[in-house]
Amino acid sequence: MPIRQLSETMVNQIAAGEVIERPASVVKELVENAVDAGATRIEIATAGGGLSLIRVTDDGFGIAAGELALAVSRHCTSKLGNDIHDIRSLGFRGEALPSIGSVSRLSIRSRTADGEAAEITVEGGRVSAVKPAGANRGTAVEVRDLFYATPARLKFMKGERAEASAIADVIRRIAIAFPNIRFTLSGSDRSTLDFTTAGDRLKRIAQVMGVEFPENSLAIDAAREGVRLDGHVSIPSYSRANALQQYVYVNGRPVRDRLIASAIRGAFADTLARDRHAVAALFLSLDPALVDVNVHPAKADVRFRDPGLVRGLIVGAIREALAGAGIRPASTGAA
Ligand code: ADP
Ligand code: MG
Repeated sequence: MPIRQLSETMVNQIAAGEVIERPASVVKELVENAVDAGATRIEIATAGGGLSLIRVTDDGFGIAAGELALAVSRHCTSKLGNDIHDIRSLGFRGEALPSIGSVSRLSIRSRTADGEAAEITVEGGRVSAVKPAGANRGTAVEVRDLFYATPARLKFMKGERAEASAIADVIRRIAIAFPNIRFTLSGSDRSTLDFTTAGDRLKRIAQVMGVEFPENSLAIDAAREGVRLDGHVSIPSYSRANALQQYVYVNGRPVRDRLIASAIRGAFADTLARDRHAVAALFLSLDPALVDVNVHPAKADVRFRDPGLVRGLIVGAIREALAGAGIRPASTGAA
């Protein structure tokens, strides 16, 4: 075959392969967009584990009718100026909406404070004309029949309940980072959540992780060379069989980071059995120039300029908190 340029839809479907792994990835992208739009209330509704329907409604600043077509075009974003190192929003790649539109039936209805409400739809990559619509200020994004256009991906879905629980997990993670936003999740799958505006972070942590967690935890607050770590870790007696209850944030962004997970494990090496895991809500704050969030399209990985510093800070701060609470390494009976 001669070399030719791929069609826009194929390029978007290839990108979707990385950005949109499962329904929970769609929810993550849409909720991040709502947060970036300054919403105070974000409602998520799903059906069929998100495979038949995901609807995210926000009261944010909306998209002007004249910009709807750009919003669903690849590499189009309102969030990045000319400096890739200056990222203040959750999104910045301009990939989510075109990717989602290439593999599903997507509709976006939006109204800005002083504009006309309008709607655009994308079906398997085909973009409609912008039409007038009724809408409150804010944006409602609806995704139906996810992966209908990419049956190979559809086959990898784990079943409605697993997908619904991954969606709830995504919302819990983001909700802890934004206690002033109300999040509700409703679905046909009995997985409902309602995190009312909490005002402060510890209240939101209790809403999401349960009131027992703050009661069974130690406060962490430490800094080293301009990197700050604060939050809470559980006392060793309040541990879990897996690490799913570790909520970690870098500059307010939920991350899943191996270095941080391994530092937490290291900090508890003397006080927790190998098969037990601490519960944690930890927040790292550092100069954005010292951390790269542009490692993977899903933006959950980060890379630190000085991993040793971050690891040392986490291990040191947690060990100090344990020692301060009089929690000593468990006797191993080896003496
Ligand atoms: P990114 O978030 O990386 O900019 P997206 O594809 O997720 O890329 O969104 C493209 C653009 O559409 C955003 O930059 C923003 O301007 C607009 N947009 C998307 N969702 C919303 C929303 N809920 N409210 C306001 N604007 C939105
Ligand atoms: Mg986005």
